[in-house]
Amino acid sequence: MKNEHLNNSTIFPLGQKANAAYFVGDAYLQMVSTDPAPLNAVIGNVTFAPGARNNWHSHNVGQVLLVTGGEGWYQEEGKAARLITTGDVINIPPNVKHWHGATNDSWFVHLAITPGETQWLEPVDNEWYNQLSM
Ligand code: MN
Repeated sequence: MKNEHLNNSTIFPLGQKANAAYFVGDAYLQMVSTDPAPLNAVIGNVTFAPGARNNWHSHNVGQVLLVTGGEGWYQEEGKAARLITTGDVINIPPNVKHWHGATNDSWFVHLAITPGETQWLEPVDNEWYNQLSM
């Protein structure tokens, strides 16, 4: 896997391949902070290769995404997908079904601040995903 695209767009390590049960394509996770104090939340750096995205899921306390590189999609169920890029901050309310991931032609990197638990659901439909970039 070549990572030269990322050299100027992220500050944390690539980490390990993310759990394939919850992702489509090549995604990587580096945990940045797992200490229970002072924040009762874990912070992970997630890197998506072009075309990679997570499955639909929800967070029982919510989640904040800090986009640090590339270009990706964020979509809440029943709403249009939103194109997001470096510097965007996404505030995800509790128990809102959503997914996030790279566009078809860009790497995408975000920090994910996640208190509470994540409930993983079905993959994003391939046809739906592919028509986003058209
Ligand atoms: Mn999420």
